[in-house]
This record gives sequence, structure tokens and C-alpha cells, in this order.
Amino acid sequence: MNSTVIALLYIVSSVFFIRGIKLLGKTATARKGNQISAIGMAIAVVTVMIQKEVMGSWSSNIMANGYFYIIVAIALGSLIGAIWANRVQMTGMPELVALFNGFGGLSSLLVALSQYVYESSNAIAHDLITGISLGLTIAIGAIAFTGSIVAWGKLSGKMFKKPFNVPAKNQLNGFVAVLGLVAIGFYAISTNVYGGMVAVLFATGLFLLLGFTITITIGGGDMPVVISLLNSLSGIAAAFAGFTINNTVLVVAGCLVGASGLILTLIMCKAMNKSLLALLFATASGAKKSQAAGEAKEPKAASVEDAYLVLEAASSVVFIPGYGMAVAQAQHAVKELAEKLEQNGCEVNFAIHPVAGRMPGHMNVLLAEADVAYEQLKTMDEMNPQMANQDVAIVIGANDVVNPAALDDESSPIYGMPIINAFEARTVFVLKRGKGTGFSGIENPLFTNDNTLMIYGDAKNTISSLASEFDDD
Ligand code: NDP
Repeated sequence: MNSTVIALLYIVSSVFFIRGIKLLGKTATARKGNQISAIGMAIAVVTVMIQKEVMGSWSSNIMANGYFYIIVAIALGSLIGAIWANRVQMTGMPELVALFNGFGGLSSLLVALSQYVYESSNAIAHDLITGISLGLTIAIGAIAFTGSIVAWGKLSGKMFKKPFNVPAKNQLNGFVAVLGLVAIGFYAISTNVYGGMVAVLFATGLFLLLGFTITITIGGGDMPVVISLLNSLSGIAAAFAGFTINNTVLVVAGCLVGASGLILTLIMCKAMNKSLLALLFATASGAKKSQAAGEAKEPKAASVEDAYLVLEAASSVVFIPGYGMAVAQAQHAVKELAEKLEQNGCEVNFAIHPVAGRMPGHMNVLLAEADVAYEQLKTMDEMNPQMANQDVAIVIGANDVVNPAALDDESSPIYGMPIINAFEARTVFVLKRGKGTGFSGIENPLFTNDNTLMIYGDAKNTISSLASEFDDD
């Protein structure tokens, strides 16, 4: 196929990617953005398949036919991806996204390794720039892969849940990184086949280890930033893979993912009042239980009926959703209760913390699914100054994002993270099932405040019962 046509098709698919990313910026257009990006990806895949290098692999011997392997790989990948994505619960999405980041990094790593095998088995000498690109694809792809596996383990609670201290972590990581970069440098300038092979394998092993040792020590509330950074790394690895195999659309798509992931990472760092360097280089603070001195206070419990009486008289109510709302799938019930409160003359708002739930925008997605008006979704910065004027704050399965220890307990692992100041509302109802801690595993002094009442039970049941109290009236 004519190389101009190929270049034009790559430009068309890049335009689809850019338009798709733009539409992903708003909840209302996000679905369309995904569809447009998927069309761009389909165009890119078809374009790869009509390139002369791939077409040249056509053969009547099925085992020697390049298309056979490509089609089997696409069919297998699509099947596994479709079944997995279809089965995953909304609460499992963040883990799935973490794994997808990891697979993105792994595929770039495999592209680089297979390019290396192709070059060395055909005695093709690489130039310095291609050698460095290949080495960096291996480095970043390997870090994104093992780092994402650790992030997946932490998010799903299946592995590495407790923060883990690697002794002299920064020195060790620095040593491993320098050693890996030296190996890449050696490969890039080496003309010796065996020396190059040892360097490539050595660098792969070292960077796989580095992804693990960097991520394993990061705990508690810092994981959102790490996931976003790993997502960015998987894009950067793809961009370097594009340089390595001379594929422009891979460079464009990789740069888009890398840049947007980096922007999101910086936004999340700002929201959590952390610097990226402090987060990556700090040693694990551990999930210490922050406990006030003196006798531990017990939280006060309230019934749905008691809560109804307060809500019925309230003129302003703010909902503060968290991960528990996603677990309970309570968003539709919340919308119903919000409508009942509004019909009763109450002003209703939703205060959304940037890291509530388990993925960026988690609460916005759920509440948009339940058709909560976009204008009612207030950011933490918009809502906090109004919090002291709110009659009632209803905390729905949120814990870390309303934990005042982040403001005043320097020993807390979440110290310094801005929170939604639910404690300032006149009355605070906390809806949770029991005494479970949040993601960072620490106690929450909000629950024992004088103006806080706990309503124990599954959030969806509690909210639905509250909504039906209004019907019975
Ligand atoms: P938390 O994880 O801090 O707390 C969730 C609470 O929900 C728990 O205390 C739990 O208590 C309660 N809960 C669970 N299931 C239910 C249910 N069915 N009904 C009612 N309550 C329920 O959530 P937050 O949203 O407050 O904080 C998010 C945390 O996750 C932060 O630490 C953040 O850093 C981290 N994180 C965020 C990511 C992101 O991108 N948003 C990514 C990775 C981590 P109980 O068991 O007693 O019911």
C-alpha cells in the first residue's frame, strides 16, 4: 500500500484520538469520546494490517502467514477483554484499569524485546537513537507492568495491602535505576551480539524489579496518584515503542496517554496537597491507628426514623459520597432521596472529593448514571466554605475523604490531604455498615464527634428507607 495513504490514515486515526480525549473531559460526552477513540484505534489497526511489511507476510501456508497470528491475537485479546469488562462490577473497575495499564506497559516491553530479537537474529545493526529508544521502552514498560500489578494487588486487597518498608529504599531504587540505565547505554553502543543480549535481559530484570520496589512502599491514600502516574508511564512506553518500530500512530497515541496521564497526576497531587517527588521518595508511613489521648469515645448510633425527623426539618443538606456508595450501588436511591428533600423545600448539594472512591471521577460517573444534575455536583473547594451553613451532611460510605485526622494529626498517613469538612455541618449522618476503616486503614475521629450520628447498614438500604419515610408522611 502506498506510503502516503498509510500516513494519511494514521493522521485520520490521530485526529479521532485527539477528538476522543477532548470529549472525555466532560461526563456528558465521555461515552461518545470513548466511541470516537475506539474508531480511531480500529482505523490504526486496519492501517497496520495493510502496510506492505505485513502484507508481505501473506502465505498460503497458514503457519507461515503473518495474518494468521495477528487475527488469532486480536480475536483472543478481544474475547478476553470483552468478557472481563462485561463481568466486572463497577467497584472492580479501578483494579481493571490498573491491570490494563500494566498490560499496556507489558505490550510495549514485548514489542521492544521482539524488535531486539528481530534485529539480532537478522544481524541488523541499530543506530544509537534506536538503541536508546528500545532500551527506554523496556525500562518504562517494565516499570509500568510490575508497578501496575502491585497497584492492582493493593486496590483489590488481594496482595500488598499493608504498606511495606524497603530498607534504604531511595538508595536501593537509585542504584537499580542507574545499573539499568548503564545496561541500556551498553546495549545502545554495543556491536557485540552476546554482550547486547546480556545487557537487554539484565535491564529488563532490573526495571521489572524497580516497578515493584517503587510501588510496594506507597500506601494508603497515595495510590490514586500512583495509578494515574502508571497510566502515564504506559503511554510513554508506547510512544518509545513507536520510535523503536518506526510507527507514527503509536508515537501519537502514546504521547496523548502519557501527557494526559501526567496532567491528571499533577492535578491529583495538587488535590491531595502532595508533591509527586515527596510521594515517590517518601518511605511508607504505615497505617498507624490515630487515636486521641485519653479514653476512646464510642460513636453514637441513630435510627432511620430519628434521621428522618432531622432531615424533614432541614433546609440545606449536602451528600458526601465515597467508596461505600459504589459498593452499595446506592446512587439511584441517593437521587431519589435528594428529590424528596427538594420537594420538601430543602436545598441539596453533593460534595465530591477528587479521590473519593477508587478511581478519578468515580463518584461523578456514578451520580451521572443516576441523572443527578451536573450543577449540583460541587467540588471540595466550592463546598467547603459553605459547609458550616449546612443543616445536615450525609456521608454515604465515605471515610478517608472526610477524616479530620488529615488536618490535625501529624502522625496520620493521610496528614496534609485536604478533606471535605463534613465535621463543620450542624448535624452529620455517617452511613456505613459497621466499624470498617477506609482505604488507608486508619480510625476516623469524625465518627465520635458530638454532632455526628452513625446510621449502620448497607448505604442503599439506609437511603431507600429514608426516602420511603418521606412517602409515609
Ligand atoms: P474509603 O475507602 O476511605 O471508605 C469507604 C467506607 O465505605 C468504608 O469505611 C466502609 O465502611 C464503607 N462501606 C463499604 N461498603 C459499604 C456499603 N455497602 N454501605 C455503606 N458503607 C459501606 O472511601 P473514600 O471514598 O472516603 O476514600 C477513598 C480512598 O481510596 C482514599 O484513601 C483514596 O486515596 C483511596 N483511593 C482512591 C482512588 C481514586 O482514584 N479515587 C484510587 C485508589 C485509592 P464499612 O466497612 O464499615 O461499611
